[in-house]
Amino acid sequence: MPHLRQTNVTAAQWTANGSTIAEYDLTSPSSQIFGSNVFSVDVQRQRLPKAVFKELQAALAKGGALDRPLADSVALAMKEWALEKGASHYTHWFQPLTGSTAEKHDSFFSPTGSGGAIAEFSGKELIQAEPDASSFPNGGIRSTFEARGYTAWDPTSPAFILENPNGAYLCIPTAFVSFTGEALDAKIPLLRSMDAVSTAAVHALKLFGHDDVKRVFSSVGPEQEYFLIDEQYYFERPDLVTTGRTLFGRKPPKGQELDDHYFGSIPERVLAYMMEVEHELAKLGVPIKTRHNEVAPGQFEIAPIYENSNIGVDHQHLCMQVLKKTARNYGLVCLLHEKPFAGVNGSGKHNNWSIGTDQGDNLLSPGKVPSENLRFLFFCSAVLKGIKKHQELLRATVASAGQDHRLGANEAPPAIISIFLGADLEAAFKAVASGSKADEGENGFLGLGTPVLPPLALDGGDRNRTSPFAFTGNKFEFRAPGSGQSIGLVNTVINTIMAETIEILATELEAAINSGTPLDEAVTTIVRNVWEGDGEIVFSGDGYSEEWPIEAAKRGLANNKTTPDALPALVKDSTIELFETYNVLSKRELEARYEVFVEQYITLLNIEAEMAALMAKTAILPAALKHLALIKESGVTSLEAPILELIEQLNAAITKLDEKNAIHPAGDPIDHAVYMRDEVYAAYMEVREAADALEGVVADDLWPLPRYSEILFVK
Ligand code: ADP
Ligand code: MG
Repeated sequence: MPHLRQTNVTAAQWTANGSTIAEYDLTSPSSQIFGSNVFSVDVQRQRLPKAVFKELQAALAKGGALDRPLADSVALAMKEWALEKGASHYTHWFQPLTGSTAEKHDSFFSPTGSGGAIAEFSGKELIQAEPDASSFPNGGIRSTFEARGYTAWDPTSPAFILENPNGAYLCIPTAFVSFTGEALDAKIPLLRSMDAVSTAAVHALKLFGHDDVKRVFSSVGPEQEYFLIDEQYYFERPDLVTTGRTLFGRKPPKGQELDDHYFGSIPERVLAYMMEVEHELAKLGVPIKTRHNEVAPGQFEIAPIYENSNIGVDHQHLCMQVLKKTARNYGLVCLLHEKPFAGVNGSGKHNNWSIGTDQGDNLLSPGKVPSENLRFLFFCSAVLKGIKKHQELLRATVASAGQDHRLGANEAPPAIISIFLGADLEAAFKAVASGSKADEGENGFLGLGTPVLPPLALDGGDRNRTSPFAFTGNKFEFRAPGSGQSIGLVNTVINTIMAETIEILATELEAAINSGTPLDEAVTTIVRNVWEGDGEIVFSGDGYSEEWPIEAAKRGLANNKTTPDALPALVKDSTIELFETYNVLSKRELEARYEVFVEQYITLLNIEAEMAALMAKTAILPAALKHLALIKESGVTSLEAPILELIEQLNAAITKLDEKNAIHPAGDPIDHAVYMRDEVYAAYMEVREAADALEGVVADDLWPLPRYSEILFVK
């Protein structure tokens, strides 16, 4: 049997690798595992002395720093709890600019000097640590003579325990700061942005008569798409191992056209895997709600119930971590790359975003009475205006090498940022803008004097899957983020944009009210102005169509197609002003991020180019040559010329790729990024073209790589 067929038979077989979760009785209290590995408020209440617990909650509500005695008491309780759970080590768990999380473990146990060891962990260790952080990207913030950074406890995100077959460890969510106080991570700016949007929204709500609201929370519910493939194929593909995506691969005869995967039942191995993932995440307090197949063969989705931005982002990281880790127990590998397979849908992460009050009111939920609708339209207007103004910034938050294969490729929203409101909400805006009495339908419109607002019976069913920023009933869904991305920056940016626009509109509203204009009239004026000034950001048509980019250009909307086009928006004047005004990121912190992201793009394209050249030279070319020898041996000379031509084509392309990739243009890194895209990536694509063509002719048992038709379909 040819080598590859044997491999497929092996790959198709599976047993859960030692870690099956036994069936358990959901009605028994011992089965209630949700949050069992979290140092939650409930655990704190049980374990902390009453006074300490109260003091901690008060400090958290105020958002101030914790003093040492308080931190010491909390640390003591946390340590005891962790030891009981079998944790021998603790780590500050943080989110450097690499886009993933980092940990450095320290043992709880310190030698006593007399040959023994005692468990030591005080407020000092809880609050602050100094990881050897010189190797984390910092975009020039930390010069080498002051290479230290420190991590600082974020008490608003609860500590948790991660388990391993050989032990457990306590993870303390922390922020990562330079010694000069600059944010080196994704958490600090997010926390700052949550404050900013809260302050602005509380101000606005006062004008609507809500004096009782003290705090407004932004929330996120991220839907995560991912691929699962058998680990056998993964390890047979050096490109997957090294770059997370297949650099070669011919489109399979059957892809996702039949939709048989999407609408089929979840394969048994995958379902077993999903159940364990959900079990693990439940212990960590991550509230997973849905699971299903996605469009591409081998593609799936998982989504939690939404949480406040900070915890939601932390939990998103845990979700990715658990997805990857658990896959190996089932002989699978979970791919979180945005585009692991060319010609097959890539994976994204829908960022569902909303803001709500400490009284439990969702500000993006249409109300039942006219006054609530006024408030709702006010906040929606802020979304329109803010996203219009900072569309390029929002685009920049989802820019990465992986995303360049996905955005605008008829499977994900285009690189043009626009908003979909749905027919009802759009009609409401139009009715307000024109001052006309909109059609009095069966449900009747809620009269508000003049003009008249329609009843906003908005259901999430009114969907436009091609829009990057869509209103879906009581939230906006940003569909552009990539599957492997941290959504920290995304939410930081949305929150800060909203803080600015809410503040602008609230100031207008306040002035109108102060000059005696009734509230409803003042709000309708604002809604009308926003619709007239910024309504062009709203687009309900097909975002995948060829006409849309042309229409968008006419409307003056940006279309930053690739990462090098998109990233500069991170440091343009309006961005710097926005972030500095709301103390979310300083100019230096923004520049640092820009530098790091440009650098990451260049590095990744360079790695891909090297890997592609290596595989082409050492695996694909030799296979083609063997095939040529086979033809020569057979004596069927008519077969020779076509393969020879492809071999020559491949060889020439490899040489060109090597030449292009050897050049590292000096000067502005963004020019280097453009060079990588226009020259190096283009040269790689020529190699790929020849290689993929060869895959279609070289003898099956000579072809050195598992094919898409195997990787995606053998389950
Ligand atoms: P769909 O696939 O139809 O968009 P899902 O149910 O898969 O819907 O995902 C919707 C996501 O939006 C879930 O994570 C959900 O918790 C989240 N979500 C719901 N309401 C809000 C809200 N007010 N703010 C933020 N996220 C929300
Ligand atoms: Mg969705």
